[in-house]
Amino acid sequence: MVDTTRIPGTDMQATRIGLGTWAIGGWMWGGTDEEQSVRTVQKAVDRGISLIDTAPVYGMGTSERFVGEALLENGRRDRVVLATKCGLNWSGSQPYRDARPERIRQEVDDSLQRLRTDVIDIEQVHWPDPNVPVEETAGALKDALQAGKIRAIGVSNFSPEQMDRFRKEAPLSVVQPPYNLFERGVEDDVLAYVREHRLTSLTYGALCRGLLTGKMTPDQTFQGDDLRNMDPKFQGARFQQYVAAVDRLDGFAQERFGKRAIHLALAWVLAQPGVGVALWGARRPDQLDALAEIDGIQLTQDDLAEIDRIVSETVTDPVGPEFMAPPARNQAAA
Ligand code: NAP
Repeated sequence: MVDTTRIPGTDMQATRIGLGTWAIGGWMWGGTDEEQSVRTVQKAVDRGISLIDTAPVYGMGTSERFVGEALLENGRRDRVVLATKCGLNWSGSQPYRDARPERIRQEVDDSLQRLRTDVIDIEQVHWPDPNVPVEETAGALKDALQAGKIRAIGVSNFSPEQMDRFRKEAPLSVVQPPYNLFERGVEDDVLAYVREHRLTSLTYGALCRGLLTGKMTPDQTFQGDDLRNMDPKFQGARFQQYVAAVDRLDGFAQERFGKRAIHLALAWVLAQPGVGVALWGARRPDQLDALAEIDGIQLTQDDLAEIDRIVSETVTDPVGPEFMAPPARNQAAA
């Protein structure tokens, strides 16, 4: 099974693959199914995954509620490092940044209830809030740590400068940036910072929102509010380039390792310096079957160079994950 890593500043150990639960919240993923979602979380834990990442905004409480329900029985709660977030608020289905101390305090209490737990193992600030000094947000989290409501603190989508300021006020253990073999923008700053300060990263989007599973066809469509309807990577000629790249990566994975693109994508993230845990967003139990085939890919320098060559030759019009950034409080549409 997958290796483990320690969460700095704590005695918690987590598997290097974590389950991401944004999609099971339904919001921005075209809806959800409670029974399937609960079974997905349970299957992940029963297969040995010991880190679960969720957030209040994932379905405006829905993902946290399903995770809480899934962990209720068979000692599953005690087998996982449970990570959630704070610092976003919403009006209807419109999220906006809100990392004021009073919001943080409220969110910690709400998450504890929805997750049906006494303590949150990792509480992460979801996005920096331009309207609130980082130090104030950090102070509220430090209070929650001292009160025993949370066990470790993390930040997501922060720059090194913001993390420097944050760490002057509160101990930081975890950093959550976007990262996969198509989206490598954090390598030189955020992942370098993680290494330098001996933090751990929970990197998100290992499968690039499903693209790197190898299941997408050039005429793929998405239902309802699915974020891939507005993700620039999934549009027009550019999408064709990405699908062609995955096809070539799949061929490489089969020829070189007898594996598929999904296994290669996860192994690639885990092989990169600075990566602690790769978050894998699965929404149905069968999507976790690929776990059984994860082992057995040791990437050499030549393999990494070949992967880079395939990507740069095939994706000539790349784009990052920036479209996901939520607006500030005063910029959110009513
Ligand atoms: P991801 O892991 O790259 O992709 C997830 C999607 O891929 C699934 O929802 C599913 O969607 C598809 N998929 C997964 N396994 C599959 C399989 N075996 N076969 C076929 N399709 C499969 O993307 P993500 O969910 O955006 O990111 C992972 C986690 O990172 C999130 O759940 C969340 O916990 C975290 N995250 C954090 C932030 C942040 O700002 N901090 C932002 C994004 C994500 P379909 O079945 O619909 O295709």
